[in-house]
Amino acid sequence: MARLTQPARNRSVGNTFGRFLLLGFLIAIFAAASWYAVPRPPQPVTLTYELDLAHAARGELTICMVVDGDLPESLELAFPPGVFGDRRNGVTPSITSAHALLRNGRIGDSLPVSVTVDGWRLPLLPGERIGFTYRIDLASVGQLEQDIRKHISAPVVGGLRAVGFEVFLQPRGVQVGDISVNFRNGGGMPLVVPWNAGPITDDGPVPANLLYHPRDQRDLNNSLIACGDLRIATAEAGDSLIRFATADRWLFADRDVLQLLQRIARAEIAFFGTAPEPLITCLLAANPVGGAERFDTYGVHTGSSILLLLDAQTTYADLNESAASVLAHEMFHGWLGEAIRQVDPATLWFTEGATTLYAARMLVAANVWSPPYGRQMLEARLARDYYGSTRLGQISVAAAAAQVMADPETVRFGYAGGVAVCAALEHSLIAQGSCGDPLGELLRYLYNQGSDAPLTRAGIVAAALAVTGIECGTWLDHYVYGTEPLPSIEPMI
Ligand SMILES: [Zn+2]
Repeated sequence: MARLTQPARNRSVGNTFGRFLLLGFLIAIFAAASWYAVPRPPQPVTLTYELDLAHAARGELTICMVVDGDLPESLELAFPPGVFGDRRNGVTPSITSAHALLRNGRIGDSLPVSVTVDGWRLPLLPGERIGFTYRIDLASVGQLEQDIRKHISAPVVGGLRAVGFEVFLQPRGVQVGDISVNFRNGGGMPLVVPWNAGPITDDGPVPANLLYHPRDQRDLNNSLIACGDLRIATAEAGDSLIRFATADRWLFADRDVLQLLQRIARAEIAFFGTAPEPLITCLLAANPVGGAERFDTYGVHTGSSILLLLDAQTTYADLNESAASVLAHEMFHGWLGEAIRQVDPATLWFTEGATTLYAARMLVAANVWSPPYGRQMLEARLARDYYGSTRLGQISVAAAAAQVMADPETVRFGYAGGVAVCAALEHSLIAQGSCGDPLGELLRYLYNQGSDAPLTRAGIVAAALAVTGIECGTWLDHYVYGTEPLPSIEPMI
């Protein structure tokens, strides 16, 4: 349902050394001379975060961040918008100390720190290495808060859960290289992180002191971390490991959720050919939202992790009939949304529409839903929220889907409209003579491109042309980006 937005991925600089070899002796001399004549470009800094879990049970994380490398004269350390100083989300960062770190391993002078709108500034840096220790206090925001994004980082039984971009302070305007995350987990508390641990010593992993290496800042920001009285179970699905964790009591067995996750993952991996990540994590917790406007179930995905917030009274039947569609939807976003990167609001109709359509198809493929039940679920939703919506003909599907914080009817029209136009586009392509599965081929084409570039409207049109030979831009102008209502369609299941 909700998708988190993250700061752009840090990009590495291409190695141009090979070209110098081709340019001849004189240029080689020039290059060598200029090495001394012009300043060396700054090297990426390395970031190390050490998370102390000793007081996690009371919602407290103490994080020591070490920044090492070519540091500028002053350094801004920032959280993404909406974290720092916004008490509504229950995440309260506070500084404890900032020091220069000496090469001999000793702690140097204490550094002055000033507060900015989104973090802290160190006005004067004396060297190449600093240690910055800060604390994150997590509190429940209460059931009156209806914005589910404010509930993601929160206390859990015996510990806490936190999304990366709300806890990892980051240097602004500095190129970042290697990133390490180290957990001080002396109590051996059950811990869930989205990365595989590397050995911290030559003797192999040390359970109390695990070291992880996120690929880049996006991978760090996208992480979902949890610790506490967690019951953790794992299962294999294709080339991926499924990890399930919960700290709450349920009316169904943990293995029921794990098996459901495994069946959905196998269907989705079979559809795309490979898993988007080697580890897919699902954290299950009680739905914290109250009030008449609440949904029974909320799903959030971040990177390869899913947070499923379920009503405490959810039965085994509810799990398979309704919560399963949220799970299948959020897991599908691991491909369409993350691997095929959703950034531009103008393509949200496609990302959300195709994900919702395929969540139903994947549940049918996994034998969780029968084909008639899947068809009935989709048709009921289209009848109510697309064909029966007062927004039909008034606002385009693309515009409605782009407004994630609009009024509930517009949001429902945007999502259902996305499903309707994806299903209708599929019918249209088949009617024009494409293969029998043009939308599936289009999704696999986008996934197999392996591009880091975000999905665009032009990219969808180009992919459709590549896999079907059909130009669909004009069709999209009418039914997706224009306000023309679709003729009645029946989505294929
Ligand atoms: Zn979604």
